[in-house]
Amino acid sequence: MQSFAYDALPARVVFGSGTVTQLRSEAERLGVHRLLVLSTPGRGEAQAREIAGILGELSVGAYPGAVMHTPVDATEQALQVVQARNADAVVAVGGGSTIGLGKAIALRTDLPQIVIPTTYAGSEMTPILGETRDGVKTTQRTLKVLPEVVIYDVDLTIGLPPAIAATSGMNAMAHAVEALYARDRNPVISLMAEEGIRSLDDALPRIMESPQDRAARSNALYGAWLCGTCLGAVGMALHHKLCHVLGGAFNLPHAETHTIILPHALAYNAPAATDAMERVAGALGTVDAAQGLFELAGRLGTKQSLRDIGMPEEGIEQAVKATLAAPYWNPRPLEEAALRSLLTRAWNGVPPQP
Ligand code: NAD
Repeated sequence: MQSFAYDALPARVVFGSGTVTQLRSEAERLGVHRLLVLSTPGRGEAQAREIAGILGELSVGAYPGAVMHTPVDATEQALQVVQARNADAVVAVGGGSTIGLGKAIALRTDLPQIVIPTTYAGSEMTPILGETRDGVKTTQRTLKVLPEVVIYDVDLTIGLPPAIAATSGMNAMAHAVEALYARDRNPVISLMAEEGIRSLDDALPRIMESPQDRAARSNALYGAWLCGTCLGAVGMALHHKLCHVLGGAFNLPHAETHTIILPHALAYNAPAATDAMERVAGALGTVDAAQGLFELAGRLGTKQSLRDIGMPEEGIEQAVKATLAAPYWNPRPLEEAALRSLLTRAWNGVPPQP
């Protein structure tokens, strides 16, 4: 076994069905009395109001102002509400966009956060915050943004449309996959990664067939928790960096981009990370990890080409240049021709190749 260092991040996790009813007791446990409930507008808004209702007099209301990619101006507006209502904690109910707003508020105020995730993106388990200013997204890692309490309530995920569940679940798997070949990987996180991949691989096809399948939804949420923990614990590599470049340059949808790139990034790294590939393939019950993920995405019916999610073909060259311009650690060094081939295959939606 290789040498390693392992930092366990503090996190209180409450998991199950109906667990949202424990929100009040969790607030009391934290010693907070004026909680502002955050959400995105639209569907999330009604849910946020319901959750404020559970808190009763401990709530200072709902604020449905979360926006994808955490733009700084949206955070500044939310901070005015935090101040005006004299909130002493935030509750983020929703996906990565809402959780991002809660983290951005915590970064600036040190207010404690209770997070109730309704997608599988995994942000709730990480000390990572990505923020957008003037169209440029920058990411930082600081314990100030790590949520104090995470309440996973499978009941709140039953209505997550299967198509979003599929891409969100593949986004989660990407965290686990890259954790298995991370430079700072360790045996504990690797165990979580395998179990996370296994759980989502089992759950996602069942959710597509039967969206109300509570056991499958529960297994997916459990997998998402494990995968989010992987993302929070160890460094990511080519896959996450490529998705960041593509999302930023072409404003592509986050989870769909992860879903499309993952098999190709894995195929690229396969020759330099054979042990990780065996573990991914083992968790998927397939022979080849990259092929297995491509086939899983096919079974889930997700879009498989960057072209289909709005990336222009000339963007391939731009993405290759942007990736090479900001080098970072990856198990296989970044090679221009191989990167171009990876992105061309992903743009066309053809199966991955090393
Ligand atoms: P999201 O939060 O934007 O949600 C996607 C869509 O699903 C939204 O339209 C939302 O309203 C809807 N939705 C959410 N829950 C639902 C439910 N239960 N039922 C029906 N609809 C529901 O997207 P996301 O994929 O969860 O998160 C993406 C964002 O999170 C990106 O900005 C990404 O960068 C960030 N992220 C951050 C981290 C981190 O560690 N900092 C990790 C993962 C993702």
